[in-house]
Amino acid sequence: MKKADLDWENLGFGYIQTEKRYVTNFKDGKWDSGEITSDANIVLNECAGVLQYAQTVFEGLKVYTTKDGHIVAFRPDLNAERLMDSCKRLEMPVLSEEQFIDGLEKLVMANEEYVPPFGTGATLYIRPYMFGSNPVIGVKPADEYQFRIFATPVGPYFKGGIRPLRLCVSDFDRAAPHGTGNIKAGLNYAMSLHAIVTAHANGYDENVYLDPATRTKIEETGGANMLFVSKDGKKIVIPKSDSILPSITRRSLVTVAKDYLDMEVEQREVLFEELGDFSECGLCGTAAVISPVGTIEGKGKEYSFQDGFEGRGPVITKLYETLTGIQTGQIEAPEGWIKRFA
Ligand SMILES: *Cc1c(COP(=O)(O)O)cnc(C)c1O
Repeated sequence: MKKADLDWENLGFGYIQTEKRYVTNFKDGKWDSGEITSDANIVLNECAGVLQYAQTVFEGLKVYTTKDGHIVAFRPDLNAERLMDSCKRLEMPVLSEEQFIDGLEKLVMANEEYVPPFGTGATLYIRPYMFGSNPVIGVKPADEYQFRIFATPVGPYFKGGIRPLRLCVSDFDRAAPHGTGNIKAGLNYAMSLHAIVTAHANGYDENVYLDPATRTKIEETGGANMLFVSKDGKKIVIPKSDSILPSITRRSLVTVAKDYLDMEVEQREVLFEELGDFSECGLCGTAAVISPVGTIEGKGKEYSFQDGFEGRGPVITKLYETLTGIQTGQIEAPEGWIKRFA
């Protein structure tokens, strides 16, 4: 397969439009069979449900080339499952795992020339999303929906070296108890924009959100789950809360820690006050896999996690290398983790 004429090594993390995307419509209670289209634009009625009441959910995953030349995705079945959970919470029609994977396969094959070659550090970022498309003026779920998947080639998250992140505790809350924090919906991001712009203006990279009820427990950042390493380096501690988005990267790292690195994993409530007990902190998500956290500031305190090293700490490095080794086919993956398209 001929590859697109792109400078793979120097791609940034932005939207590059490709020629093809997948689209399927939900009407009269059912999804159509879905097709590839060249049209990147969507024409909607002014009163479409998504425009008035933000009825939209999304997913994010990566497609890439393994060392032995296969085009694969990492655990896309979990994206399909999470999308279903998001849809149910916003009263949107679900899409079966079969249709999700079928659409993904069509999209990937139509964008084969944009799947970066192995070793460039680049990947093809995949964005599946669904929205209410027919006019809705009284507050109720739409009757018609569109589900789309587009692809955009992206470069490595950390270009020119890893820089530990500076985080601050946000004065704003991300997700109410029993709210929508555990689903991947645009609404969770809309309300985070003011908080992130504020954090950036104050010189921080990201916000840490606390539990809104007591503001004593760590939840996650605006777009990544958190993990902590105990001082003896033998244990991973992961905040537990019903309003944290179930990150596929974080769930995979739990398996890596337990089954590949023989570490103990504790999922429990983590107090802001106990951050001084940890030696490393990382942010987990598809884009960067694990980003090291340098400091977390809040409540008049500053916790540092970079004692004696730069970049990723020793435990986070092991987790990162093992998971990326599994993803690229250099370490044997657990059954079903790698979906091969070509
Ligand atoms: C998408 C997302 C993550 C990361 O999930 P992955 O499946 O690992 O990419 C974490 N937190 C939030 C709020 C998210 O939206």
